[in-house]
Amino acid sequence: MPSTKEDYHNKLQNALVSANLVLKALEHEIDGSEGEKRINNAFGSRVDRAAVKKCIQKLTNPRNKLEFPHGAAVDHSVNAIAATNMADPGKGITFGTFFIGNTEEDNDMRVGTIIHEATHALCGTVDWFDKHTFEPVDEVKDKTGNYHGYLDSNLKDLVRSTGIQMHRNADSYRVLAMKLEVPTV
Ligand SMILES: [Zn+2]
Repeated sequence: MPSTKEDYHNKLQNALVSANLVLKALEHEIDGSEGEKRINNAFGSRVDRAAVKKCIQKLTNPRNKLEFPHGAAVDHSVNAIAATNMADPGKGITFGTFFIGNTEEDNDMRVGTIIHEATHALCGTVDWFDKHTFEPVDEVKDKTGNYHGYLDSNLKDLVRSTGIQMHRNADSYRVLAMKLEVPTV
């Protein structure tokens, strides 16, 4: 049995390789009518499409290629799948206790998580939108009533209601890259 540390390293390394391949494929798939449908699903039809594409290009730029151990670390005190230092995103991404699982599905989760966190680090994306204005907010002190951009939180509402600022929603890139469906009703 590999040690926990090796196990983390291997799973992170495998997920990074997959994440880079998924992003490269996405860059080619995103143009055309199929790409437009997928962007509408993940961001809403009013999104600034050029900004979405620009972010994807940043993620696939060999200069920014997602690497390990470049800033990536596992911290068992992080009670989340992963976290990006929002005050200084360039400092990298920390992966927490829930990052590791043992099924194929878990690998998809890891790939999606890496893509989500990488958009925080490289594209300045956020997870929260103001409850009144639907504008993206960098830091939320009082989360009550504000919209959380995760697929399993308020993404459905945001896709329906938010304007061109949706290119700043981190989880929309995960949804786009992993071909996840946002419920329409
Ligand atoms: Zn996030």
